[in-house]
Amino acid sequence: MSVLQASVGNNGNNLDEDVLTVQSLLKSKGYDPGPVDGICGSNTIAAIRKFQATFLTQPDGLIEPGKKTWIRLSSTGGSNTTPDLVQWSGDSAKWSQEKKLASLHPDLQPKVTKILQALSARGFQPKIYYGWRSVAVQLQLYFQGNSKVKFSFHNAQKPDGTPISYAADIVDDRFGWSPGAEKSGFWKALGEEAKTQSLTWGGDWVNFRDWAHVQLVPNSELARVKQESGL
Ligand SMILES: [Zn+2]
Repeated sequence: MSVLQASVGNNGNNLDEDVLTVQSLLKSKGYDPGPVDGICGSNTIAAIRKFQATFLTQPDGLIEPGKKTWIRLSSTGGSNTTPDLVQWSGDSAKWSQEKKLASLHPDLQPKVTKILQALSARGFQPKIYYGWRSVAVQLQLYFQGNSKVKFSFHNAQKPDGTPISYAADIVDDRFGWSPGAEKSGFWKALGEEAKTQSLTWGGDWVNFRDWAHVQLVPNSELARVKQESGL
């Protein structure tokens, strides 16, 4: 369930995170707010008005917590909702392992499965932390300083919004990103198994070690993947 802290839209408070939430909800319901970037510009306000026009006689372009527009926008049902996309909404870090696996590119799925099996056989307790994640979640990570980029291989999607992540973050359930992961040899083992599957491993990146991260193609292909995602 999405949360709105303050008003969004025409003359609204327009907090970054609220705007991101509204933009991604509008998008999931088939409205085009422009780039999902946390900035409430004319495209976002126009999309709010269009959405309001389906149930208000005088759309004002403003969404307030607890009021009619927000209740409609944050509800998952309704005729304007694309059922296929609703199943992919919400916090993807909380999805089941099966769902995270299903959110990966078809070429990445078998490779990640083999990595998980190999690591388990070596006595680790591997799990996927992130498969796909939405651009809205990516931007939150970026604004929080937890990611260096506004678009990553985790955000890859088909033009209709179906997840097709080119990356996965794999951690040991006992350690996560804590020092135990290195002490136990988990990161090193993950890097070895990733290479066995011909994947790029973030632990090799000298400027920003991304220990848990494996990806299907080299960084040089990010622009292509972004374009194919329609983002
Ligand atoms: Zn990652």
